[in-house]
Amino acid sequence: MAEITLKGLAHSYEKTPKGAADYAIRQMDHVWHQGGAYALLGPSGCGKSTLLNIISGLLEPSEGDVLFDGHRVNELPPEERNIAQVFQFPVIYDTMTVFDNLAFPLRNMNTPEYRVKPKVLEVADILELTPLLDRKAKNLTADEKQKVSMGRGLVRDDVTAILFDEPLTVIDPQLKWKLRRKLKEIHERFNITMIYVTHDQLEASTFADKIAVMYEGQVVQFGTPRELFERPAHTFVGYFIGSPGMNFMAVEYRDGQVMFGTQPLPISEQMKHAVTSAANASSSNIKLGIRPEFIAIATSPTANSVPISVTSVQDLGTYSLLTFKLNEQTFKARLPEGHQPVGETAFAHFDDAHLALYIDEYLVEAGNE
Ligand code: ADP
Ligand code: MG
Repeated sequence: MAEITLKGLAHSYEKTPKGAADYAIRQMDHVWHQGGAYALLGPSGCGKSTLLNIISGLLEPSEGDVLFDGHRVNELPPEERNIAQVFQFPVIYDTMTVFDNLAFPLRNMNTPEYRVKPKVLEVADILELTPLLDRKAKNLTADEKQKVSMGRGLVRDDVTAILFDEPLTVIDPQLKWKLRRKLKEIHERFNITMIYVTHDQLEASTFADKIAVMYEGQVVQFGTPRELFERPAHTFVGYFIGSPGMNFMAVEYRDGQVMFGTQPLPISEQMKHAVTSAANASSSNIKLGIRPEFIAIATSPTANSVPISVTSVQDLGTYSLLTFKLNEQTFKARLPEGHQPVGETAFAHFDDAHLALYIDEYLVEAGNE
């Protein structure tokens, strides 16, 4: 059991990195607390596997430290870190039976046989592998092989942490859901730190209590699924979390107004003040963000609305998704069930309480909900 700290961590696969673009992991600090169920979420290529391999010891970071309970482990090989890792594709011994595959990590640590058997049976039961225990692994389906591979990660309860690198990619959707629930059960039962890598926000939020969102080699936000939705700390989080993601407007302060192109935005004095301060501090990358859920659409103008041109309305059952243009930019608004049909021209109201201000892509001010 351990707390895993990443301190000033950076990694480049290049021998002589020339700039930020040459780094798979860019200068970051992060703490994974003992016993947490975490997800590491981000698009393909953002550095998730690199980070996981640095934690497990398969890869030595080019800069910074990895600490387990405060002790530097940079040079420790994976076997000495007491970490189990489950990969995207099954890692099993084809010629061994399922039982022997599951027993392997325990026997490898010289666990006495009388303790191996009950543990293997327990894990096999959880993963519904019991009927297959005597089968040779090479005769299994892809799903079954991956379950064995996961079982090998779960069989030792003395590990510091279990790292999963997109383990359910090869598993069919129905079984995926079931296995995710199983993992959660196992987490609750053994209180082992688990870090689950995925590029799927739904998968992340059903598994994890806290999600680390990764973007271009850095963790840009670490929070509960709810925090990521309600207070995205970085524009990427706003865009990546939610369906669809947050809308952003690049704004500037001109003639006493907050302007989105030629459109003055009717926003609260407080937000206006925050934009002015940013503009005065000579920041040129100022954005306002709003989630599709918090744009109200009306058929006639209201006090604080702006005219928009509607592109399409898609009925998605419990809500409709309205696509519109404002200042030549496409926006999405989620309309509640039973909303009034709108024509080509309509009016949008951005709920002040849910507007968020981003400077250089980071959140500086959120509406007061
Ligand atoms: P993810 O798991 O989020 O998809 P990776 O950690 O695999 O991302 O990759 C991060 C970046 O590092 C990518 O740009 C990838 O091309 C690069 N990369 C990954 N592995 C290697 C490697 N062995 N050698 C060189 N570059 C690599
Ligand atoms: Mg990967």
